[in-house]
Amino acid sequence: MTKRIVIAGGGAAGFFAAIAAAEADPQARVDVLEKSPELLAKVSISGGGRCNVTHHCFEVDRLVQHYPRGAREMIGPFHRFQPRDTVQWFESRGVPLKVEADGRMFPVTDRSSSIVQCLLRAAREAGVRIHTGRGLRAIRPRSGGGFDLDLTTGDTIPADRLLLATGGNKATAGYRLAVSVGHTIEPPVPSLFTFNVPDESLHALAGIAAPNAVIRAPRERVEQIGPILITHWGLSGPAALKLSAWGARAFAEHEYRAELLVNWQRDGLVALKEHIAKNRAEHPARTLAASHVLDVPARFWEWLCCKAEIPPDRQWSRLSKAEGERLIETCTASRFTMNGKSIYKDEFVTCGGVRLSEVNFKTMESKCCPGLYLAGELLDIDAVTGGFNFQAAWTTGWIAGQAMASA
Ligand SMILES: Cc1cc2nc3c(=O)[nH]c(=O)nc-3n(C[C@H](O)[C@H](O)[C@H](O)COP(=O)(O)OP(=O)(O)OC[C@H]3O[C@@H](n4cnc5c(N)ncnc54)[C@H](O)[C@@H]3O)c2cc1C
Repeated sequence: MTKRIVIAGGGAAGFFAAIAAAEADPQARVDVLEKSPELLAKVSISGGGRCNVTHHCFEVDRLVQHYPRGAREMIGPFHRFQPRDTVQWFESRGVPLKVEADGRMFPVTDRSSSIVQCLLRAAREAGVRIHTGRGLRAIRPRSGGGFDLDLTTGDTIPADRLLLATGGNKATAGYRLAVSVGHTIEPPVPSLFTFNVPDESLHALAGIAAPNAVIRAPRERVEQIGPILITHWGLSGPAALKLSAWGARAFAEHEYRAELLVNWQRDGLVALKEHIAKNRAEHPARTLAASHVLDVPARFWEWLCCKAEIPPDRQWSRLSKAEGERLIETCTASRFTMNGKSIYKDEFVTCGGVRLSEVNFKTMESKCCPGLYLAGELLDIDAVTGGFNFQAAWTTGWIAGQAMASA
């Protein structure tokens, strides 16, 4: 009898699994059920329409360090399918990728449609049957193995193997379906957001970036290094986004109210002290505004002086010891109050999902329900920005597809 493999979710993980399964077992019948009218919707909008497919990081030990959740569990899977395999997968199907200075990889066309078309073509050529507007509503495991699947269209179909690849959107049925067959859900909360800081004087500096900063949330016990960007509503940039990912759960627990400390120039403390001493000794009559000591735009330096409660027209000779200390503290640990978060439009993901200890990472099969497999953002796996989230979807989808074909 023909083996029936059904995949719920027509996103990155679902498509990769469907193609892998159909290519590995051409005799099997592989169906993708997508509840919405659109396939691969997130791939289309991803990376600002360019699709940051993966990251140029081919060492598994380094790769997993980008995953606040799932790092340990993904070591094995990445040894089987990692970014190098993703590059090869797309290139062998006519879509070469390019790498940018920061390691992010995109199709050379700079268009996500190249990735979408490639996946649709590969699925079609492998004989995958794709259904849109047809979602999975309920899973009924059969006593002798396999499933009866109730669909949103009112019909019921059989399946020997079922993959849940319904993504990390808590509004969809994915979590409920996983729970219905015995799984536990780590509470879903957003990751990859920017910090709202209600400080108009900061907003006036929108557009200024500190390329080598350190941002810290002491109560949440997270710290990240990298560029910080001042925006019209607060703090963003790669270091802020990484902080939001590593602190996602703690920030949610504290209802997105936190104290943030920013060191605007990492490793700058010694140079800062030397500059202050030098200005005092050599240019005592000059004002602070006339000779700023950090490598930052003039209006930002003046803002730092004001934040340290020192008038920028103060002469260096008249800078008291306490004021000098305040200036150093402001440059190395500016304090902000976070009050809320904003969506980072280029990429956001869910922290939380199906508990990882309930999944066999050699096959992506459920330990709660034999014959059921799980892949993609539905799992409690997520990463910082840079193509790592899609990589988790490609890897877990590919492994699930191979396993469903051979089981
Ligand atoms: C704006 C944005 C930009 C992003 N850009 C990037 C990027 O450039 N690089 C990167 O690495 N990551 C990026 N991400 C993250 C990345 O898109 C996700 O990690 C990835 O799409 C997860 O893939 P998935 O297949 O698990 O889930 P999804 O892509 O969410 O796909 C799940 C699919 O399942 C369907 N579905 C849900 N319930 C059912 C049901 N009951 N029955 C049938 N179908 C169902 C959904 O409609 C959806 O189509 C971005 C995310 C966003 C929101």
